[in-house]
Amino acid sequence: MAEPFIHAENLAFTYKGSGGTDDIPALKNVTLDIQKGEFVAVLGHNGSGKSTFAKLLNLILEPTSGKLTVAGFDLCNKDMSEEDLIALRRCVGMVFQNPDNQLVATIVEDDVAFGPENLGVPMPELRERVENALATVGMSEFAEQEPHHLSGGQKQRVAIAGILAMHPECLVLDEATAMLDPVGRKEVLDTVRRLNREDGMTVIHITHYMNEAAYADRIVVINDGTILMQGTPDEVFSRRDELRAVGLEVPQCAELIHRLRKIGIPLEEGNISSIEGCAELILRSFKKEGAANG
Ligand code: ADP
Ligand code: MG
Repeated sequence: MAEPFIHAENLAFTYKGSGGTDDIPALKNVTLDIQKGEFVAVLGHNGSGKSTFAKLLNLILEPTSGKLTVAGFDLCNKDMSEEDLIALRRCVGMVFQNPDNQLVATIVEDDVAFGPENLGVPMPELRERVENALATVGMSEFAEQEPHHLSGGQKQRVAIAGILAMHPECLVLDEATAMLDPVGRKEVLDTVRRLNREDGMTVIHITHYMNEAAYADRIVVINDGTILMQGTPDEVFSRRDELRAVGLEVPQCAELIHRLRKIGIPLEEGNISSIEGCAELILRSFKKEGAANG
């Protein structure tokens, strides 16, 4: 089998205390593989280590111990060349929570050009990349506008375009939808789902929103710096009590299935991550009962 895109083995990171403050072991013993083209959602309550994990992936932070390879780069190699570091950063693009902190230029297209320009991409390729990236996120018509006139969702899509213009292999969204309204959240989620499906982009989506995680191929739940569980959305959401114990709620439809079972309605295993799936489970149970009684 091909080497995983991300390979973490007993990965740990500790924020060093200074001036009398204690060390904070933010990540402990994380072992995880992520394949190229996967869409992985990362869940966990505040302070569980999600952002720390994200920041290790392109060496904003350096691992304290363990192993970490990303796109063939050994991120624990202290002698990594400047060239490799730039290549890694280009390959793993990050979008953060606050769209206002990520836009650097006063015109949208200049903002999108900023990254590739710094990589030395010459004209006319630069122009082409900017146009393609803006088209991909559905923001072409805003190319000449000032970013501060845009909505939160539009700003995040411009931020994503700026990364796409560097031709990354992987997109890491660290609660990039957290500050957006429902429309903005949907715009961003639809954009990254399409990039994943159509272009095979590896996506790591750190989110608080269970219904966003439901679209992932796999969910990884982090708690207190370690991986609590991982699996398909159906597998993870079926462990409702364990999630509740660490302060996480399952999507409403999965909660409904849980409560129906609890009052004695026999529902089969199945797709509890979507409304359609849950409706199907309930319908099947009715039909069975009808057959048994009829
Ligand atoms: P999450 O993104 O899941 O909310 P973080 O990775 O930001 O969690 O934080 C994990 C732990 O590390 C928390 O206890 C947090 O307080 C601590 N932490 C985060 N950033 C720093 C920092 N720059 N210095 C010291 N401790 C930090
Ligand atoms: Mg965070």
